[in-house]
Amino acid sequence: MKTSLNTLSRNQLLFLVKEAGQPAFRGKQLYEWVFVRQVDSIDEMTNLPKAFRQALEENYCIAKPSIYHRAVSKDGTRKYIFQLQDGALIESVGIPSGKKNERLTVCFSTQVGCAMQCQFCATAKEGLTRNLTIGEIVCQVLLVQEDFGQRVTNIVGMGQGEPFANYDNVLEAIRILNDPKGIAIGARHITLSTCGILQGIQRFGTEPEQFTLAISLHTAIQSKRDKLMPRVSGMPLPALKKTLQEYTLATNRRVTLEYLLIKGVNDGEEDLKALVDFCSGLLCHVNLLPLNDISDSPWKPSGQAVANHWISTLMNNDTEASMRQSRGSDIDAACGQLKNSIQKK
Ligand code: SAH
Repeated sequence: MKTSLNTLSRNQLLFLVKEAGQPAFRGKQLYEWVFVRQVDSIDEMTNLPKAFRQALEENYCIAKPSIYHRAVSKDGTRKYIFQLQDGALIESVGIPSGKKNERLTVCFSTQVGCAMQCQFCATAKEGLTRNLTIGEIVCQVLLVQEDFGQRVTNIVGMGQGEPFANYDNVLEAIRILNDPKGIAIGARHITLSTCGILQGIQRFGTEPEQFTLAISLHTAIQSKRDKLMPRVSGMPLPALKKTLQEYTLATNRRVTLEYLLIKGVNDGEEDLKALVDFCSGLLCHVNLLPLNDISDSPWKPSGQAVANHWISTLMNNDTEASMRQSRGSDIDAACGQLKNSIQKK
């Protein structure tokens, strides 16, 4: 199989051009065809010499994901299953928001499946197949933008996979999406969400761009977290808090803590107290999430009254908190759900 040019980083593209004996400016041209204009074939790269295009075609191609399935929610949210060159399927979601739907957020995947085994997550059930390439990440955003016919303003790495388990490709992809010449999404409007991979958080804190970091916390009690999120039990809460404090100190940026409220599991008074303690001395914002029902799960979301009580208690303890609105629940928009339900059919 030929290598798709969009699996290569910007530097790799520049190197490839140099190796081919072409002048350096051709590297920039190649990068722009592949990632800014995102053409479908090498033949369309009309400002590259024909002989060079023919040489490229011997070993390279352009492969892009295609829409395998699309579901549109009553609230305007669109959920996509994209098929990749090797047949693998991934999910993305497009979420319009704002008074005039002027914002369009894309939730993108970073891996096919996921290895993290979080107990409440539908993707966890399929395990990890492989990392996504740079192009497979970038293309999700472009395909959603084309389908809506509207500029994407925000992106969040909250689809399938653990972004920091595919750090290099994810970083290169969000850099390309941030490129002012391309889709030009502002760095502050680019969020990566992690289950708490400490090395990834440390590295992310050294990146020059003002990207946003979100942590899937879900409980501040260690024994519960070890059960709910078994693959991060080796990265305990005190170490996570210390790493986040260092991150905020180095970047001056506030982190978002995501907390799924699960009835009778992590929504009691002792859970709230542990969360308040975790947040004390940490520059953070707590985002409470309603649990999305996934099949074969006994767990139910906590009621709105619980969420309101949590928000006011956190606010009284000087931690900002809000409840995320659930979008697209009629189309199985929660992590991994749509793909699972389509594959069963
Ligand atoms: N692996 C990364 C990003 C993908 S998951 C992470 O863990 O952050 C994106 C978000 O969806 C995470 O906060 C995750 O915990 C949450 N999530 C997983 N299953 C869910 C469910 N059933 N209902 C609601 N949110 C869920």
